[in-house]
Amino acid sequence: MIIQKSTNPRISSFDPNNFSFGNTFIDHMIICEYENGKWGDVKLVPYGPLPFSPAMMGVNYGQACFEGMKAYKDKDGDIFLFRPEKNFARINKSASRLAMPEVTEEMFLEGLKALVDVDRDWIPYGEGNSLYIRPLIFATEEALKARIANKYMFAIVATPAKSYYSEPVAVKISDYYSRAANGGVGFAKAAGNYAAAFYPTQLANEEGYEQIIWTDDSTHEYFEESGTMNVFVRINDTIYTPPTSEKILDGITRDSFIKLAEKKGIDLRVEPVSVKTVVEAHKNGTLKEIWGVGTAVVTSAFKAIGYKGEKLELPKLTLEESFALQLQKALVDIQTNNAEDTFGWRV
Ligand code: PMP
Repeated sequence: MIIQKSTNPRISSFDPNNFSFGNTFIDHMIICEYENGKWGDVKLVPYGPLPFSPAMMGVNYGQACFEGMKAYKDKDGDIFLFRPEKNFARINKSASRLAMPEVTEEMFLEGLKALVDVDRDWIPYGEGNSLYIRPLIFATEEALKARIANKYMFAIVATPAKSYYSEPVAVKISDYYSRAANGGVGFAKAAGNYAAAFYPTQLANEEGYEQIIWTDDSTHEYFEESGTMNVFVRINDTIYTPPTSEKILDGITRDSFIKLAEKKGIDLRVEPVSVKTVVEAHKNGTLKEIWGVGTAVVTSAFKAIGYKGEKLELPKLTLEESFALQLQKALVDIQTNNAEDTFGWRV
């Protein structure tokens, strides 16, 4: 790895109590260029803009994919990644689907570790604090030709992140727009998937909903995901989550929740979740909670679901009552080294 440290670090002016998540970047980043059929040297360099042409293929034809993961600091100042091998496998799944070159495990993991190590002071200590890390691959070739590019960049950038706490949100069950289709790219973290979701989400926002529950594109009768999170539904004391498919992102938080529920003896079933079942359960009072999961906020509880013009309200549950909050706590305790890591998830 080639290391070029910043001569003008900004860490001394970073206030961990007052910063904007997603707009504040740590002092360094990882970059690596792909050309002539192979990746070059991995470089750790000062964070900053890079020169690219507007004719770059990544922005014209959308060959771009990314990952989202976090590093956590424990009370002794030790730093942990959470199941990074899963993000490594997933970025390559995404890259392959978009006909982009895969990255090597060494580039990915060594790049992550070097970056987190050099900028460890940027990771705020304290509950809910972490470093949000964004590995990405995009086509850099300057050519207006709709074909597979032959130049790419792999990069890793990161932004400090604060508390997990998110207010319960109102979500709208989609009865028209879709996030993914059979044979498509829903399982990949393709940049274009997010662009395509913005407009329907904006329409839902205008109707008073924060997010959309994406349903299957052919019938809109089955739940798929919620916003950029996997979705869980609790009816009585059983939790349901749809099976992953080529339309559903294989979320690492989702997988961890499934394993934690099993360990806690909570009945969790991976099976299709129909809109009809959820609406009926709400009517007869057995719909206890419904929530999204993902790396960014771990869980996002739903306070209401909108379906065909009706708003179905849900009560706010306490930690004792909520399976979502109990599972979230169990997960965060492992991530931040407050609980024994029986699954071997911390790195
Ligand atoms: N679904 C989508 C579409 C996402 O973008 C994400 C965030 N990566 C998730 C689910 C949750 O995945 P994870 O738990 O790995 O963050």
